[in-house]
Amino acid sequence: MSDEIRKVIIIGSGPAGLTAAIYAARAELSPLVFAGGLYGGQLMLTTDVENYPGFPEGIQGPELMERFRAQAERFGAEIRNEDVVSVDFKHDIKRVSIDGGEFRASTVIVATGASALWLGLESETRLRGKGVSTCATCDGAFFKEKDITVVGGGDTALEEALFLTRFGSRVTIVHRRDHLRASKIMQARAHAHPKIHFLWNARVREIVGDRHVEGVIVEDTRTGALMERPTDAVFVAIGHHPNTSVFAGQLILDSRGYIESPDGVSTSSAGVFVGGDVQDRHYRQAVTAAGLGCRAAMRAEQYLEALDAKEAAVR
Ligand SMILES: Cc1cc2nc3c(=O)[nH]c(=O)nc-3n(C[C@H](O)[C@H](O)[C@H](O)COP(=O)(O)OP(=O)(O)OC[C@H]3O[C@@H](n4cnc5c(N)ncnc54)[C@H](O)[C@@H]3O)c2cc1C
Repeated sequence: MSDEIRKVIIIGSGPAGLTAAIYAARAELSPLVFAGGLYGGQLMLTTDVENYPGFPEGIQGPELMERFRAQAERFGAEIRNEDVVSVDFKHDIKRVSIDGGEFRASTVIVATGASALWLGLESETRLRGKGVSTCATCDGAFFKEKDITVVGGGDTALEEALFLTRFGSRVTIVHRRDHLRASKIMQARAHAHPKIHFLWNARVREIVGDRHVEGVIVEDTRTGALMERPTDAVFVAIGHHPNTSVFAGQLILDSRGYIESPDGVSTSSAGVFVGGDVQDRHYRQAVTAAGLGCRAAMRAEQYLEALDAKEAAVR
């Protein structure tokens, strides 16, 4: 363990973590960022990003995140491509551990994001960004007048399907049961929509296509029979999992594992702030995550100023 007590440690290097790093670095707080296994966050998994302001022609997800990183480093953020494996937030000085080392800081910003749940198919991974997506807001506009398949049966799946009717010629919801988990009101809206169709008792076994999605192979969950359906896009809407396992017992989490925050920035531990999809269950966009990262950094700065003022008063 080093003797040094950092002002700010940031956990996560998606839009929230790296925006927090830019703000903290420009405030001369010399942030240390643990980037984690998915350095750059979820946008590293996608191709075209067309809704991030400032890029009228669009930008590739990985290139956007390289730019975030370069901007943070330009102002002095130290970025380490390591995963945090445990934390201790119980005292004024916070402890953050990686394999083979412990670091201490007066404030910590948690920006570990949330991972979309996937079906776990090889073809799904290969065709991500080529017709396979987990985000209708992000990618729906690429499928104007196309056939779209949505996988799932909860509120999120129906919200995504309803949103996708703005673009697609037909939206088919594939669900493994013969009834939906979604709320009654969402079900009523989906059933009433002329573009939405349902494929019940059906499980996607394969996504077909070489350079882009061309169809899905669907299994009837009652008979095991397989059938191929042509489609242009597959939106997997089976949920998200916040990356919070290392914070269990240290921060208050809700029943789904998201970090609880009364105001969207502070947490149950004074001096620990949160930003991005790890707390935001609703918007889940790069630009909102960046904004929340900015807020977290500004709050950390205020907290440090208050600490300094308190120490000066004691002296
Ligand atoms: C396929 C896809 C396409 C998308 N397209 C768009 C789009 O076009 N436009 C848009 O606005 N949004 C898009 N999104 C959503 C957007 O990517 C997210 O809303 C955004 O990345 C959330 O940012 P974040 O910083 O909160 O978290 P994330 O991007 O999830 O980053 C989390 C970070 O935390 C790190 N981490 C996790 N655990 C640890 C740990 N224990 N220790 C250290 N680090 C850790 C990870 O390595 C990662 O760097 C897309 C998402 C996906 C999956």
